[in-house]
Amino acid sequence: MAEHDFTDKVALVTGGGSGIGEACAMTFARSGAKVIVADFDKDGGDRVTEAIRAESLDATFVEVDVSKPEQIEAMVAESVETYGGLHVAVNNAGIGGAQALTGEYPIDSWQQVIEVNLSGVFYCMRHEIPAMLTSGGGAIVNMASILGSVGFANSAAYVAAKHGVVGLTKTAAIEYSAQGIRVNSVGPGFINTPLLAENLDDETLKVIAGMHPIGRLGEAQEVADLVAFLGSDEASFCTGGYYLVDGAYTAN
Ligand code: NAP
Repeated sequence: MAEHDFTDKVALVTGGGSGIGEACAMTFARSGAKVIVADFDKDGGDRVTEAIRAESLDATFVEVDVSKPEQIEAMVAESVETYGGLHVAVNNAGIGGAQALTGEYPIDSWQQVIEVNLSGVFYCMRHEIPAMLTSGGGAIVNMASILGSVGFANSAAYVAAKHGVVGLTKTAAIEYSAQGIRVNSVGPGFINTPLLAENLDDETLKVIAGMHPIGRLGEAQEVADLVAFLGSDEASFCTGGYYLVDGAYTAN
């Protein structure tokens, strides 16, 4: 679906080589944006970049680990150098982490999840915001989760990181809305992506699908459509928000 116009805009998507990020990258490209596909996974990032180019659209792959601030600085600099500015950023890269009770949660997994899922979003905003200020403003969409507002057993690090992303988003929105940068977060329910398929067996996936009153998992494109709206000029009064796309999971 391409219903917003991103012509002459530069959109950066971290974790753009798979799942929700892939759907976001494709959607922005099909809506006219020049897209930076940033990912840890070179094969996935190359695949998505090639898929965009195969439609005669514009994309560049940047290999990056979002938990490394110096790589984030270089990623943003490359976006600006390649396409002349930065207007939309989707800070989406994330990992699941260990599954264990809080009293037994492995310290190394805690540190890794917080570094990637929370600090990674901060490092991105830390460098995207100055680039957007010199580009005349922009829109940032941070990928939180339903677990940015409710808890989930055996997922202490992930839940803490996603709650942190929601707070970080609100703070940056307050700071920069008067300067033309909108900052929002998105809270997907469980979405049918490799992240889920690789971590959970079919039986568990069935149980999780049933926890959504709508009766199924979400699809990556359903998240990308919300992200595209929030990144677009149609969302001009939306900033500081946390927008659910969760099949009524949290309404239950
Ligand atoms: P996915 O299919 O695994 O895609 C995530 C991408 O990010 C992968 O290409 C992954 O590379 C990459 N990545 C991981 N760590 C990275 C790092 N340190 N630096 C750069 N890239 C990195 O996952 P997804 O389901 O689309 O999830 C995307 C985002 O949505 C995450 O923030 C996740 O927490 C959030 N979310 C997902 C769901 C869900 O149910 N799927 C629900 C709510 C929120 P590798 O494959 O090499 O790890």
